[in-house]
Amino acid sequence: MSHRIYITRKIPDVGIKMLQDKGYEFDMYMENQVIPRAEMLSALKEKEYDALLTLLTEHIDAEVFDTAPSVKIVSNYAVGFNNVDVVEANKRGIVVANTPGASTSAVAEFTVALILALTHKLIDADQFMRDGKYKGWDPYIFLGTELAGKTLGLIGAGRIGSEAARMLSHGLGMKIKYYDTRRNDVIEKECGAVFVSSIEELLPLADVVSIHVPLLPTTHHLLNRDHFKLMKKTAILINTSRGPVVDETALVTALREGLCAGAALDVYENEPHIADGLDMLPNVILTPHIGSATDIARDTMAVMAAQNIIEFFEGEEVKNKVVVS
Ligand code: NAD
Repeated sequence: MSHRIYITRKIPDVGIKMLQDKGYEFDMYMENQVIPRAEMLSALKEKEYDALLTLLTEHIDAEVFDTAPSVKIVSNYAVGFNNVDVVEANKRGIVVANTPGASTSAVAEFTVALILALTHKLIDADQFMRDGKYKGWDPYIFLGTELAGKTLGLIGAGRIGSEAARMLSHGLGMKIKYYDTRRNDVIEKECGAVFVSSIEELLPLADVVSIHVPLLPTTHHLLNRDHFKLMKKTAILINTSRGPVVDETALVTALREGLCAGAALDVYENEPHIADGLDMLPNVILTPHIGSATDIARDTMAVMAAQNIIEFFEGEEVKNKVVVS
């Protein structure tokens, strides 16, 4: 019996080919944009789909499951799974799977890139050149800060956080302090990382605060106005995890008031919108959720997303099944 899959946006060919090679039937939204919800729901009514391959831009919830009652697995082309109502899916016996580890190096490198771009004022300096303002070497323009000996305060020391810690400690000589709900013996051993038992304790110690937790009910607004007051005024904040982990409006106020020195954000509370005033701040770098945007990471994500569906259809254990407690 053939299986039928609905794919909400074109993913790299390597993943599509895996599904084709298995002889599965599939339909794929072919526009180069986020699929409008009405269009997705209408497509799901057309045929009986057994599987959904979704992106983080689609909210997969009870309404979707009601519309496509034959769906048995949702394979999310992302490590984050906050766009899928996993509890509702599990209630209905639907498996949810993701792509953990596929983008670890990409996002860790991107985190380092954001930190360096901020501390060396790369974006402003580039704009200065393009504006024709460079009139000759100047000992005082674009003075940055160096990272060696400074402290990285890591919030979330899982795959991406740990890899960023390795790069920043081994490569750039940063000291690592971290807060997580779990101790991470590996980075303690490999990077001399020091565990700190609360965010409140971590923030005053850090020169760079970098967030790498999943978006869960427990991590929503994990950083709020009170937390910004605890940061060093010279510190910078990096968020490549998920937007709602930070109270973005409170961050704009904190930056305006000088509670911290700058921020680099790849993710936003109400994507694709950004908080009022964020784009007017000089000490901020904003990128369009491209932490995993490397050829290798995206191909690996496609392979893993396809593999999840293949494992499920072949009656094997779905290794990347999302489990929520
Ligand atoms: P991971 O599961 O390996 O690590 C997450 C860590 O957060 C774990 O160590 C966990 O114990 C910790 N954690 C969970 N709840 C916490 C809490 N309340 N307080 C402190 N720590 C807590 O995940 P990962 O692969 O490192 O990915 C992290 C997140 O990065 C993903 O969930 C995703 O949202 C985001 N991400 C973003 C991009 C991007 O393009 N910007 C790409 C990939 C992943």
